[in-house]
Amino acid sequence: MTVPERYDVAVIGAGPAGLAAAVSAAGGLKTTVIEAYGAGGSAAATPVIQNYPGCADVSGAELTRRIYEQAQRLGVSFVLTNPAVGLSTGGGERTVTLADGTTIAVHAVVIATGVAYRTLGVPSVDKLTGAGVVYADSVAEPSALAGQEVFIVGATAVAAQAALDLAKHASNVTMVVRAGSIDAGVSAGLAKEVDRTRNIRVRVNTQVVEAFGEGRLEGVRLRHRVSGTIEAARTRALFVMMGADPNTEWLKGSMVRDNEGYLLTGDELLRNGRLPDGWPNERVPLLLETSLPCVFAAGDVRHPRRGARDHAGAAGAARASRERRGSTELAFDRRARRIDAAADGVPDPLPQIPVPEVW
Ligand SMILES: Cc1cc2nc3c(=O)[nH]c(=O)nc-3n(C[C@H](O)[C@H](O)[C@H](O)COP(=O)(O)OP(=O)(O)OC[C@H]3O[C@@H](n4cnc5c(N)ncnc54)[C@H](O)[C@@H]3O)c2cc1C
Repeated sequence: MTVPERYDVAVIGAGPAGLAAAVSAAGGLKTTVIEAYGAGGSAAATPVIQNYPGCADVSGAELTRRIYEQAQRLGVSFVLTNPAVGLSTGGGERTVTLADGTTIAVHAVVIATGVAYRTLGVPSVDKLTGAGVVYADSVAEPSALAGQEVFIVGATAVAAQAALDLAKHASNVTMVVRAGSIDAGVSAGLAKEVDRTRNIRVRVNTQVVEAFGEGRLEGVRLRHRVSGTIEAARTRALFVMMGADPNTEWLKGSMVRDNEGYLLTGDELLRNGRLPDGWPNERVPLLLETSLPCVFAAGDVRHPRRGARDHAGAAGAARASRERRGSTELAFDRRARRIDAAADGVPDPLPQIPVPEVW
């Protein structure tokens, strides 16, 4: 049996949410970050970030590299290319199991594993991701596409709403839809609004089969699924909005998720005012605390739309503040852990760091 490594905090996922949590936790807490691939997450594919506090016009890759290096300087250790595959609790501790079999014992866990966007499976589209091709479930700044031809793939409510938002600025918006209509994924009211909007065109029974451009998207080729006709269209913006799946399969059965698999936290866990089944404490879960005490969730794994809707139009800044809020919960969590530890009869081995009363 391997003796587990011990940390105060393990952050799972090194996207912007995980990195921000690690930087905040690092002050006084022995912190490790577990990442399935390399640091940066989805943000590493974002060409320009304009609204992250203190960083204007920086690429997502550059921004996350800076936060990664900052975390390292603050003493955070990183385990890369080794995904977390299990999480269990007991004896006042949480144990994270990694793909290579390593186990890590920790007091608090922050899950920031983000989402996996559903892709078209077209290599030329994948190649231009971040260079005109965007996987997203909302459009942060539709005005940036003023006067342009914009394409959206997807027949979801999110895609229809994005088309309406973009149509206020773009010259034309084309929705590319595999099915014979958008009715299956879009409410009748929204579909009617799309239909009524002069500069939105819905291309049904149609697929994007190719994206082209030298280092940047310049156009797409569309194939009609019934007639087989292929035509080319010029565009510098293709949004793929076919939905996303949260990276939480490895947590199935260990904590409460919503019906799409997103993690629920804080009072989202209360059902008719009742605490979740198996919740061992009298206190209610903290703001970003999951159904397992001292296991928190931050970033898109809680649902990208929760943040985006709350802070319409300022996704980057909002995300930053949301993540700060998530990581500041760790400070509160030190207090919570003492309560838990006392309830379990386990001494709290953490240094007694003053805990702020407000964040
Ligand atoms: C092409 C593109 C462009 C975008 N443009 C914008 C934009 O302009 N503005 C904006 O606000 N947002 C944009 N977004 C969205 C933004 O990138 C995300 O909202 C943000 O990255 C979410 O951060 P996160 O840390 O929650 O998750 P992510 O960035 O997705 O990071 C999650 C990390 O967890 C890791 N992981 C997953 N499972 C495990 C596991 N089991 N164990 C260990 N690690 C795991 C992943 O490998 C990943 O590194 C864009 C996204 C994409 C893909």
